[in-house]
Amino acid sequence: MYNMTKGIIFVISAPSGTGKTTICDSIIKKFSGVNLSISTTSRFPRENEEDNKDYHFISKDEFENRISMKKFVEWTTVLGNYYGTEYDELDKYLKRKEDVVLNINIDGGKAIKQNYPDSVLIFILPPSLKELQERLKKRGTETSKQLNQRLNMAKHEFEMIAEYDYLLVNENIEKTVEIIDNIIKAEKYKAHRYDINKIITKFKQEEV
Ligand code: 5GP
Repeated sequence: MYNMTKGIIFVISAPSGTGKTTICDSIIKKFSGVNLSISTTSRFPRENEEDNKDYHFISKDEFENRISMKKFVEWTTVLGNYYGTEYDELDKYLKRKEDVVLNINIDGGKAIKQNYPDSVLIFILPPSLKELQERLKKRGTETSKQLNQRLNMAKHEFEMIAEYDYLLVNENIEKTVEIIDNIIKAEKYKAHRYDINKIITKFKQEEV
């Protein structure tokens, strides 16, 4: 196989509670050359979350400071908290021509596509809104008001899924990981990701 000219950015978006963190973690484990981008947020860490692993947790003031310093490729607010992808986070992988997975919302996905047209946007739907509600209840990290806000946010996100390249329903995690695995493999074989002229020249110059 030839070397790709650049690493690929894969954006995985799904409403909160769809299981995308578990899905992204499995993908990273499966592919040695695929890295997970760690977003920056002003939200407080949940009980099981670790700084610089789940997110770079910073204060609201520091986030606003970084916005004014143009540190973000994209940023958004979700339920009163800031979330964003920093150039430094992406560049460290792209400079090494390595692939990177971003676990961000649909606004972020659209912004990434504008900045990096070769990126691949994947949207994961829950089997139903009811099931999403049950999963969020079981997770128990939200008040009932926040839970309703998250469900409304999910409905809003569903209206924009046509902007994504791939759409799948998370019936079960293994199946979903297998589908994403296939998408990643197929994307790596797309001709435009290679220096075609170099390949043509190599064959022209080869003596038989
Ligand atoms: P949570 O609070 O559940 O961790 O995340 C809330 C939402 O923010 C999720 O939909 C998540 O994908 C999204 N999110 C996390 N990081 C980023 C980011 O860097 N940029 C954008 N646009 N969304 C993000």
